[in-house]
Amino acid sequence: MDLSNLEEILNPPGGGEPKYRIKQAKEAVFKNLISDWSEATFFSKELRDKLNEECPLEIKADVLVSKKEDSVKARITLKDGLIIEAVLMRHADGRNTVCVSSQVGCPLGCLFCATGKMGFKRNLSANEILEQVVFFDRYLKSENQKVTNVTFMGMGEPFLNYENVWEAVEILNDHKYFNIGARSISISTAGIIKGIEKLSQEKLHVNLAISLHAPNDKLRSSLMPINKRFPLKDVLKAVEDYVKKTNRKVMFEYVLIKGMNDSNEDAMELAKIMDKKLYFINLILYNETLSAGEAGIFKPSETKRVEAFRAILEELKIRYTQRYRFGDDIQAACGQFATSNNPHM
Ligand code: SAH
Ligand code: SF4
Repeated sequence: MDLSNLEEILNPPGGGEPKYRIKQAKEAVFKNLISDWSEATFFSKELRDKLNEECPLEIKADVLVSKKEDSVKARITLKDGLIIEAVLMRHADGRNTVCVSSQVGCPLGCLFCATGKMGFKRNLSANEILEQVVFFDRYLKSENQKVTNVTFMGMGEPFLNYENVWEAVEILNDHKYFNIGARSISISTAGIIKGIEKLSQEKLHVNLAISLHAPNDKLRSSLMPINKRFPLKDVLKAVEDYVKKTNRKVMFEYVLIKGMNDSNEDAMELAKIMDKKLYFINLILYNETLSAGEAGIFKPSETKRVEAFRAILEELKIRYTQRYRFGDDIQAACGQFATSNNPHM
């Protein structure tokens, strides 16, 4: 799918189709989910042919379904041949959450993350972000279902691509198009302070998640190099300001990695910095990323350790949830998003 020339074709300089035509076209793609412009009968035959030529709606993707059938991974090939991944998670309560990528790769290089290891290729456009949701809306259509929630927790750091991410968020929320409530949209950041500040000024109140993963600077910097530029104290200050402005809950993601950040001391230190109204922790069991060279360095914490860690949080009355593991058998769980970006593989 490539909508990059849509507005230019429908509204060329010097006048073409009237402005509402652009809305009509977007409604056809984002809401009515047409996959060929020939279905857009409100346009002339000539225009439909031109759109099929220059703004193809076909989405090139490989699909993998998990054994339990509750998660589906799509590897989408973009028009320049680069590949991104998006995952659909089908919750027992009927929600259909899509985890979207915001960049091809990621420049932040967190040591435990498969996307970080890929390095950075480029930012995604708003349309390329939306394409991932359209793909799953088409997928769910035969079951009379649609995407109900979107999380920016796929490849990339959303706040390093703020403008495009926000353009996509507004279209996702728009009742004319996807009609997904702001409360059903979440953005996760490794701690880009400018992004947190900008988000707090938006009228639309989407959910904010912070990838914390360590309770102090020494440990955090060793896992997430970005912490050297934006240390914990500054990130937490930005979050405090965000909470003051928006009065919204904030989720802190904490991935439990064996022997790295899962000791009793870590839990106690974590409890200290998280003991705030509207904060809650989301514990994630580390998903092994099967990278040959570094296999064995990062492992999920053992069950007993996780239990001890949770017991401390409970005793100290810290709010937390533990994330259900979707799709680890198809490499579709958090942090497993990586592609070789070789379209022939
Ligand atoms: N770049 C953003 C958005 C990605 S969200 C961010 O880091 O917040 C994906 C979440 O999964 C992040 O919290 C990330 O730190 C975490 N993650 C990365 N690798 C993981 C792994 N192998 N197992 C579990 N979680 C992982
Ligand atoms: Fe990038 Fe997030 Fe992975 Fe870190 S955890 S490398 S910020 S995608």
